[in-house]
Amino acid sequence: MTGISETTVETESVLDDKTFDKFKILFNNTSDGIYLFDENGRFVDYNKVAEMICGYAKHELIGQTLFESGLLFENQFSIVSKIFSKNNVGKSSGPDELTIITKRGEQIPVVIHTFPINIEKKRFIIGIARDISKRKKAEEEKILAQQDMINTLKRIPGHVFRITREDDGEFIFILSEGTIASFNNLTTESIKGLKLKDISSEESFESIKSFYEKAFNGEEISFEIPLRNSWYRTYLLPFKVNEHNKVIEIIGYSIDITEHKKATEKIKENEKFFNDVFNSISDGISILDKDLNIIQTNKIMEKMYHHNFPFHGKKCFAVYQNRSIPCENCPSLKAIETKRTQSCIVPYPDSENPSGWIDLSSYPIIDMNGSATGVIEYVKDITERKKVELELISQTKRLKNILSGTNAGTWEWNIQTGETIFNEQWAKMIGYTLEEISPTSYETWKRFVHPDDFQKSTDLINKHIQGEIDQYECECRMKHKDGHWIWVLDRGKVISRTENGKPFWMFGIHIDISERKKMDDELNKAHLELKQLNDNLEEKVIERTNQVNILLKQKDEFVNQLGHDLKNPLGPLLNLLPILEKTETDGKKQQMFKVINRNVEYMRNLVNKILQLAQLKSPNTNLYYESFHLKGEVQEIIKTNILMFEEHHITIDNQLSDELILNADKLKIHEVFTNIFNNAVKYSKNDGGHIVINQSHDNEGLVTISIKDEGIGMDQHQLDIIFDEFYKADSSRHDFQNSGLGLSIAKRIVELHGGQIWAESKGPDKGSTFYFTLPTST
Ligand code: ADP
Repeated sequence: MTGISETTVETESVLDDKTFDKFKILFNNTSDGIYLFDENGRFVDYNKVAEMICGYAKHELIGQTLFESGLLFENQFSIVSKIFSKNNVGKSSGPDELTIITKRGEQIPVVIHTFPINIEKKRFIIGIARDISKRKKAEEEKILAQQDMINTLKRIPGHVFRITREDDGEFIFILSEGTIASFNNLTTESIKGLKLKDISSEESFESIKSFYEKAFNGEEISFEIPLRNSWYRTYLLPFKVNEHNKVIEIIGYSIDITEHKKATEKIKENEKFFNDVFNSISDGISILDKDLNIIQTNKIMEKMYHHNFPFHGKKCFAVYQNRSIPCENCPSLKAIETKRTQSCIVPYPDSENPSGWIDLSSYPIIDMNGSATGVIEYVKDITERKKVELELISQTKRLKNILSGTNAGTWEWNIQTGETIFNEQWAKMIGYTLEEISPTSYETWKRFVHPDDFQKSTDLINKHIQGEIDQYECECRMKHKDGHWIWVLDRGKVISRTENGKPFWMFGIHIDISERKKMDDELNKAHLELKQLNDNLEEKVIERTNQVNILLKQKDEFVNQLGHDLKNPLGPLLNLLPILEKTETDGKKQQMFKVINRNVEYMRNLVNKILQLAQLKSPNTNLYYESFHLKGEVQEIIKTNILMFEEHHITIDNQLSDELILNADKLKIHEVFTNIFNNAVKYSKNDGGHIVINQSHDNEGLVTISIKDEGIGMDQHQLDIIFDEFYKADSSRHDFQNSGLGLSIAKRIVELHGGQIWAESKGPDKGSTFYFTLPTST
């Protein structure tokens, strides 16, 4: 047999033509090496590829066995023996991996499949060998690459691991290394050999299991997972596949991203904060790139320019100014160019507010290289402020016009910058022209004002600025050009404030009050004199009062003396006159005696009363206190005077309590009642009347007695003075009974007892009631 390639007869006889042709094509064109052995294992034939694999030409090996050929290492003989053993007759074998030693001495790994064929009843064995050196090399390279990858990963801070999957589906760590010191309370090294389930908490295992399953299904996975107080990011890659291309191992890498997470959260928070601030600022903000394209705007901006919304990507001048080219002197372009903040006030044309104004500030955004990459525009709607400012200007103008007619000096003071504006009159008031004292400043005021008044004025201005007083007002002296001082009334008020509430402009006036001050001085002088006079007057009054008191005392003494002097000669008169009257028979003379008698009686009565009062007023007067039932005593007094009451048809009702016991001078109390009863009769109406005596208890041992009559009554004026000495209210009715001293005596007696007396009447003809308080016996 010469070989299949030369088409042997034997072969043809076994295989039909077509099959043989196909075999021949296969034999010569396959990419595998095909060796044909006889049943003794000797080479019978092999194709070109087989020749290339082993490096031997056909004639060099035909007839030799594999063992003899030198193609195999001895340790592979057992595999070959098995293939050619008698037991395997009729069976195919493989794949077996063998390493062939080529003619050039190289070692080539091959995979061999063998199967027997019969040709002309002879058994042959076909060995198909595939050169797997490239695959092997690739595998080795892959392992090296994987090793490299593991080594690289090991150097990165984190946890590197390999996981295989058991038949029961458990994931087992077959490698665990890394720079993370501990992982869920386990060291990375100690995880090796553990199941994924063992190192995870129940709920975390459930959520991560699916990722591992995906990785075992061939996907590259990355996920983040919280474990205890830390966050980990894990990457899973399929690592090893089996011959069925099924992933049998995955490699994983976990890194602690807690800090990163925190930082991300912080960034998110900061971003949120920034956005919140951005949107809550009540002024408009837009961020532009250096070509003036709008990148970001806040809500206010969107509201202000809603008619051109959305803005993003559009030019600022198109959106905000409805222009096709940038504005002249655009502050944002200037800010980008100069890298410095620019501000300006520009009109804010709006259909709703055609006379609007905005205060625009452009802040350049400078990158790390120092170049301006854009600009932040800060837009403040100052329409209202502008309006107020314009109003203020016109108001100030009007005010100045008004003031120019009043000769008032005016001053304006910018509290923030110190700038001052005075009018001509301000200077004129102190004898200068405005030109003479220019340039003016706050110092100009300081120069002319009296140093004492400057301090006072400064204090008051500060008080006003701080809101303690509504307006500033101070009277100050200012030095006139001639050298004398003039007085000015300085008045002012803060009329505008800065955006942040600081006082800005203060406006004030000066009014020359020198004349008024002069008058004030004179007035003060007059006041002083008057006061001195007043003080003297007081002294004089005291002096006079003393004199009057002395005189009154002298009067009392005189009246007392007079009483005594009058009483003495009255005695004989009173005794003798009735005798003379009796002895006189002449009727006319008898009448005359009667008149004399009445007058003498009046005189006696008057003198007695005078003496009685004088005695009561004397400091030596003593009261003889005793306790007695008042009701009984009053009853006695009524009895004594019963004829008088009856004569005047007057009934009397003593309603005093039986229990009422007074502690008083009984005789003097008699006197009080007698005087009041006499008056009640004297001043009763012609048709009689009714008297009621009553009591009411006061506190502190006093009882108030009331004696009410139905007589002619009194008006208020009479009531006020009836207790004065010698006062007789009813002059029309006074007769010889009237001394005008009865109530004075009653008053004195009551007061000596520590009581009070007063009278009430509802008016003439309406009766009177006399009240007096007296001490009761306790
Ligand atoms: P006279 O001696 O005048 O009565 P009095 O001091 O007793 O002096 O009284 C002073 C005056 O008070 C009387 O003149 C009388 O006008 C008035 N007066 C006193 N009691 C009464 C009374 N009960 N009703 C009206 N007027 C009275």
